[in-house]
Amino acid sequence: MDYYIDKVFDLNFGKKKTAKINTFGCQMNAHDSEKLCDMLLKMGYKITDDKNNNDVDLVLFNTCCVRENPEDKLFGNLGYFKNKKKLKPDLKIILCGCMMQQKHIIEKIKKSYDFVDVVFGTFNAHKFPELLFNNLVTNSQIIDIWKENKNHEEEIYLTRKYFFKASVNIIYGCNNFCSYCIVPYVRGRERSRNFNEILDEIKKLVDDGVKEIMLLGQNVNSYGLDLKENKINFAELLFKVNNINGLERIRFMTSHPKDLSDDLIFAIRDLNKVCKHLHLPVQSGSNRILKLMNRKYTREKYLDLINKIKMNINDIALSTDIIVGFPSETENDFLETIDLIKKVEFNSAFSFIYSKREGTPAAKMSEQIDSEIVKKRFGYLIKVLNEIIEKKNKIYNGKVEKILVEEFDEENKKLTGRNEKNMLVHFESDKNLVGKIVNVKIIDAKPFYLIGQKIGS
Ligand code: SF4
Repeated sequence: MDYYIDKVFDLNFGKKKTAKINTFGCQMNAHDSEKLCDMLLKMGYKITDDKNNNDVDLVLFNTCCVRENPEDKLFGNLGYFKNKKKLKPDLKIILCGCMMQQKHIIEKIKKSYDFVDVVFGTFNAHKFPELLFNNLVTNSQIIDIWKENKNHEEEIYLTRKYFFKASVNIIYGCNNFCSYCIVPYVRGRERSRNFNEILDEIKKLVDDGVKEIMLLGQNVNSYGLDLKENKINFAELLFKVNNINGLERIRFMTSHPKDLSDDLIFAIRDLNKVCKHLHLPVQSGSNRILKLMNRKYTREKYLDLINKIKMNINDIALSTDIIVGFPSETENDFLETIDLIKKVEFNSAFSFIYSKREGTPAAKMSEQIDSEIVKKRFGYLIKVLNEIIEKKNKIYNGKVEKILVEEFDEENKKLTGRNEKNMLVHFESDKNLVGKIVNVKIIDAKPFYLIGQKIGS
């Protein structure tokens, strides 16, 4: 791979080329984009986020097929860049990410988007420099999609957006086949990384100044189940990560409720560096819909699990994902979701209107719900959630929270950071606090963020 990086670098030498990365979707994609960014830097590109795209020589779209209307978003953007390319013929357009693993997307690109230069998928991102080089020398469209992982080392490259926090993949792929989700088809089956490799990577990051680590996987709770040697489970991995000197905070996502063990609950409770925040997607409060979704738990099991978590971990913050308007969802099913939300009292939630993903079992279900009904339900869900979240946030008033400062807004002269529970906090202070953990007294609580005052020196 270094061979092709050097080759592209030679082609770019002295040309001051600029690249822009557009990332759609989840944290896994954001992490993949960091690796692609690293490759671009090594190939001699300067990264820009210029909104007008005036000086862009290469634009890369790291696509997602999970979130809402992804195809409209991508193809809308391609229309825009097609016009840019007419004015600047050597502009390179690169597509990658999980949407590219879908056959109908590749067919569409081949048929109607011949101006796209390079296309690759989720299993061969390491080939990006080679594919780009081939395009640069032949000026022809290069499409290279692997159907599965070929045991290629996936953690070779990394450039971090933040110097004080970083994500580390611990498991790739998913075995769960939730009926609405495309991930197992486009990211393959579960593959856990060897724990020594994970620990080495985190130690290097900590030596480099990282204070907070996010352990990533589609389902971190099944970490280790597929390992043949050095087999440990996710709770055991957390203990090992917690022992790393210099590391201050550990987060992880995502957890599937069916795989959340007692050992993991106790690990979150007992380990001082593990943040007391758990993201546990419920998706629906109706047993009938949960079964159709192939989630493999019932509302009763989910509520029992929540009770166990609350009883064991004092003051835990809980967040979730909810889908509204899944095929055949009745008013009663929806009200069961509302009832569950009220019972759990989540601290935050990501709510989505169901949208079809071609190739999934749910896309073939006949009873798709009328969009007006779904919008009405969605509006009501948001209202209920906001009331709960606002009430939960009020408990922070007057409390002193430890905030890892993430950003300084030059315009408002305000700092933004997160507390251990992952709540956003805004406060005024010095911009050199970015990357530090400071004490902030909360003076006001809004539905989606807190306002504070820094205390102490
Ligand atoms: S657990 Fe379900 S929703 Fe999550 S990635 Fe796997 S199949 Fe998709």
